[in-house]
Amino acid sequence: MPVTALPADVPVSSYGPDLDVLRRQDPEIADVMLGEVRRQQDSLQLIAAENFTSPAVLAALGSPLANKYAEGYPGARHHGGCEYVDAAERIAVDRATALFGAEHANVQPHSGSSAVLAAYAALLRPGDTVLAMGLPYGGHLTHGSPANFSGRWFDFVPYGVEPDSGLIDYEQVRELARGRRPKAIVCGSISYPRHVDYALFREIADEVGAYLIADAAHPMGLVAGGAAPSPVPYADVVCATTHKVLRGPRGGMILCGSELAERIDRAVFPFTQGGAQMHTIAAKAVAFGEAATPAFTAYAHQVVEHAQVLAAALAAEGFAVTTGGTDTHLITADPAPLGVDGPTARARLAAAGLVLDTCALPYGDGRGIRLGTAAVTTQGMGPAEMARIAMLFTLALDEDPERTARVRAEVRDLAGRFPPYGR
Ligand SMILES: *Cc1c(COP(=O)(O)O)cnc(C)c1O
Repeated sequence: MPVTALPADVPVSSYGPDLDVLRRQDPEIADVMLGEVRRQQDSLQLIAAENFTSPAVLAALGSPLANKYAEGYPGARHHGGCEYVDAAERIAVDRATALFGAEHANVQPHSGSSAVLAAYAALLRPGDTVLAMGLPYGGHLTHGSPANFSGRWFDFVPYGVEPDSGLIDYEQVRELARGRRPKAIVCGSISYPRHVDYALFREIADEVGAYLIADAAHPMGLVAGGAAPSPVPYADVVCATTHKVLRGPRGGMILCGSELAERIDRAVFPFTQGGAQMHTIAAKAVAFGEAATPAFTAYAHQVVEHAQVLAAALAAEGFAVTTGGTDTHLITADPAPLGVDGPTARARLAAAGLVLDTCALPYGDGRGIRLGTAAVTTQGMGPAEMARIAMLFTLALDEDPERTARVRAEVRDLAGRFPPYGR
């Protein structure tokens, strides 16, 4: 696939690291990368798990910290020369604990899945019973998928949502907990648009003597900005990603109380990971610093407001919005009333430059669409744009190629008016 070089009107310098050196040495990869940069800029990124990191985060990621080996933890490394990366990790840990009010933070997990793996390794033995949201209802792969280590090594018992409301069936959670006596209960999902009742999960876990693990990969950025309830006071262990609403680099983290700190740290290194990625840890520190600002608090609240506007507008267009709306950045909806299923909708929307995912629906076996407002809000869009995006959805679902081309042009224009890295 021939990828054209970045057009002259897109400012390469605004992506953080200087790309000219890559362009000169390896035009093949530079072209691919600039093609992706351009794709991100001239379509709308509505994937609920995505966002645009800041140029400062990108600068830390593309820095010589990537060269440094640092197995172990600050002050206790298996390699020499760690004085600067130790400082970076200490700052990241201090910022994370302050931001989320946690006693302990481990910022080394390479991804959200690695964080969950380490949490299980710290608290469970192979064969233990674990209660988690079933995959058809929005459970993550690490919540017991047979294709994942979790489903292979543990005995996962799935709970679901009420078919009519789409809300977590807490009574079912309580009954399954009483009947199966799990060692741990996992709360958190890839597609649940409502707040999780962490206090109720805590109560159920206490009743049966189970650990409570919150996998808050999605809402953690909202938690940082005070726009969603925090799992930290309730869960024994909180796992999260740093790259979703939180707007940091691709990676994971774990928060816990001091009593589990040593077990969690040993479960990350040396049990499930080797050397930490110090450039990513520095970038996480930058993101935690950004998330502690009033501007980020305002951002987190805007993300939710925009999702609520978009959900209401999609409902007005005829989409069956799951749970009737959202408390978060995330919306799931069934496009069936408009005559298409989720996969068809995703393909037609993508052809118009509206990029999102499909997801399971709480009823039947059909698939819906899943989207979020984190990235478009980072770009500076507002409620008016959300309402327009919902209308563009309906227009794009029409199979007429001419209409798709018109929507594509409008999407390009809209995206161009809100460049994620400025002009
Ligand atoms: C995104 C997500 C993960 C995994 O994150 P990766 O970085 O892709 O491994 C795990 N659990 C939940 C609930 C998530 O939403």
